[in-house]
Amino acid sequence: MADYEQMAGAQAAVAIADFRSDTVTRATPGMREAMAAADVGDDVYGEDPTVLRLQERVAALTGKEAALFFSSGTQSNLSAVLSQCGRGDEYLIGSGYHVFRHEAGGTSVLGGVVPFPIEVDANGSLTVDAVRQAIKADDPHYPVTRLLSLENTVSGSVQPRALIDELAGTAHELGLRVHLDGARLLNAAVATGQPVAAFLDNVDTVSLCMSKGLGAPVGSVLAGDAEVIARALRMRKILGGAMRQVGHLAAAGIYALKHNVERLADDHTNAERLAGGLRAIDPLEVTQATNMVFVTPPPEHHDRLVKHVRSQGFAISGGSPAMRLVCHLDVDSQAVDLLISAFDSYFDQPD
Ligand SMILES: *Cc1c(COP(=O)(O)O)cnc(C)c1O
Repeated sequence: MADYEQMAGAQAAVAIADFRSDTVTRATPGMREAMAAADVGDDVYGEDPTVLRLQERVAALTGKEAALFFSSGTQSNLSAVLSQCGRGDEYLIGSGYHVFRHEAGGTSVLGGVVPFPIEVDANGSLTVDAVRQAIKADDPHYPVTRLLSLENTVSGSVQPRALIDELAGTAHELGLRVHLDGARLLNAAVATGQPVAAFLDNVDTVSLCMSKGLGAPVGSVLAGDAEVIARALRMRKILGGAMRQVGHLAAAGIYALKHNVERLADDHTNAERLAGGLRAIDPLEVTQATNMVFVTPPPEHHDRLVKHVRSQGFAISGGSPAMRLVCHLDVDSQAVDLLISAFDSYFDQPD
């Protein structure tokens, strides 16, 4: 789990590479050119051609009718929940998922919509039984269960298409709507070789981040049917998220979808390489999924190890017991090897 406080503190140490998150990437020269050259208009009037183009592309990619550009994944997810639930309603969600854990309780604060967190397994997955059991009877004591909120990937772990289909199918059968926080859904698609839309047959709304592994500086896109996207547009306005000549930002998303999707496989390969190298260092416990590696050192070494690795020129999050290392556009296999050496040199030091 990310440790945001420590992440900020690690900033000064970056000399070689930043492994805190895939959000730290800087726009490449090609992306900056596309942003500068973008044809723009006032998007509040629906007149920004580049925003419209990005929205059309994401609608096609996800196999949905319509899509809407947002400044962040938090705003996109929040608008999705508020567009499908009202005050006194409840949504079911994995207990570690971003919408519940890392979005400042927005659905409750701003919508009067209560989350009902459900434990997930080691792969970050919910079970159909747990979802069934969590749905409330029609009784004035209970909130009205309205939505199932899924996530893919979950801390890098791919949620298989069959599982999403089953969970979402069950939710629909029982009268719920289904949102999927797909901040890193493209990593799941690339890792499994399946089209993005294949994960979404039974999903009503999906949010994709342009600003994670895809390398754009900002932006998320929500997709769904035309009716729900119209409601999300109103929610975005309420949240202060209507923007004007943002084709410059949408252009980064279009560029990212064209140039930075297939290369996510490189991030997965680098993460495997990193995990392999760290596993060879005896006292470390290592897991890896898509572009993320989680390293658990013996507790007595944790703080000194983090300090040591940072002193070697790396920004890493100091999560405890496991620290998360994330591969992205701005780290290559050489940086990975140097990071492995930095971990290795800690355990090589004389006591
Ligand atoms: C990053 C992320 C989001 C959105 O975060 P923003 O910082 O608001 O763009 C949503 N869900 C998951 C799983 C994420 O990792």
